[in-house]
Amino acid sequence: MNIEDLLKKSQDAVAFTKEELMWMLSCPADSPETFRIMAESNRISKELTGNKAEIHAQFALNLAPCACNCMFCSFAKVNGVFTEETRITEETAIGYACQLEADGANAVYVMITAQYPFSMFLEISQEIRKHLKPDTLMVANIGDQSLESARKLKDCGYAGVYHALRLREGKDTGLKPGARIESLRNFREAGLAVGTCVEPVGPEHSNEELADMILFTASLNPAYSGAGRRISIPGTPMAEKGMISELRMAQIAAVTRLGMPRTVQGNCTHEPCTLGGLAGATLFWAESGANPRDVEEKTEEGRGETVQTCKTIYKECGWETWEGPSRYYGEK
Ligand code: SF4
Repeated sequence: MNIEDLLKKSQDAVAFTKEELMWMLSCPADSPETFRIMAESNRISKELTGNKAEIHAQFALNLAPCACNCMFCSFAKVNGVFTEETRITEETAIGYACQLEADGANAVYVMITAQYPFSMFLEISQEIRKHLKPDTLMVANIGDQSLESARKLKDCGYAGVYHALRLREGKDTGLKPGARIESLRNFREAGLAVGTCVEPVGPEHSNEELADMILFTASLNPAYSGAGRRISIPGTPMAEKGMISELRMAQIAAVTRLGMPRTVQGNCTHEPCTLGGLAGATLFWAESGANPRDVEEKTEEGRGETVQTCKTIYKECGWETWEGPSRYYGEK
């Protein structure tokens, strides 16, 4: 296997095998081979998007200790970061959503922790929907759902969901991989587009695990895939495992782009950075309110980036930004 043959294969849009993805992931992050893979990913992303990257913005309806105990999440009860639940009011939720829309986000995401009442989520979502412009896309970031609930999300005005089978799901999380996969099926059957990602990547994940996950996300023909690194929550057991560098994350995002079919326009990375944009990321997230990667109650006062900052980061690495509703959540 060599880089010339793999790049030729990518230029011919031929699907990669697991072994080929592993080979690309095994190149040192600062090697010429990786830089060429990142350049190829950037080329594909620019071709598919007309050099217009997107910014999606998320806020949460609640902040709560969550019994699902995903070890990397600041809401996980075991991590002890947050000990009491706080919920924002409908009015505050509408305020967040309208602000993110006004800031120019290409899609507005509404997040809840797994135990937040679904009926309340629908109620507030309907009110948010009424206050947003008709063509503003809403995306739900919520727990596993039945087909019936997925249909309710669709009826409520959601264009899609963010949902992922996380790395080491069921080992590092209290959730069952089978339930995550079933939810992904339910969302798609209900007509909701699914955005997903290879996440949350830590230094302990092998190239084989990453390649398997890239291929799994490709099998969904999602709105977008990509790669996001795990952000250490200070004082937690996961933090002891460390974090991968932005460069390694950029490499994984690039290999993920190469591993996706061309029908998948979006390639996300998180958190936003110029290396990610350079490596062909076409989706950054802005965040407000509670955030599972932050210990601040309002992530805009912590790690969260604004839509404007994301735009600036894109500009610094040669990207223009798309104005209007996300193309990733549109019809394929
Ligand atoms: S990632 Fe979601 S389900 Fe897991 S602990 Fe955090 S809020 Fe709960």
